[in-house]
Amino acid sequence: MSEVPIPKKRFYCTNCGRVIEVPFGAPKPHQCPYCGAHHTMIHRLDRGGFGRGWRGGRNINLQKTT
Ligand SMILES: [Zn+2]
Repeated sequence: MSEVPIPKKRFYCTNCGRVIEVPFGAPKPHQCPYCGAHHTMIHRLDRGGFGRGWRGGRNINLQKTT
């Protein structure tokens, strides 16, 4: 019914404020295709926007080994 969208990575250029979309699997762009800013100005965007959510603390396993 609904097609599965091609996953894309999103990067945000803090220099020009644009969002750069890159097909999943492609490397992070070395520079902004819009303004040519250095890649250090480009930050990864994850689902849900700017929050740092996806790498939360899921490693917390309260398993006690006796
Ligand atoms: Zn830019």
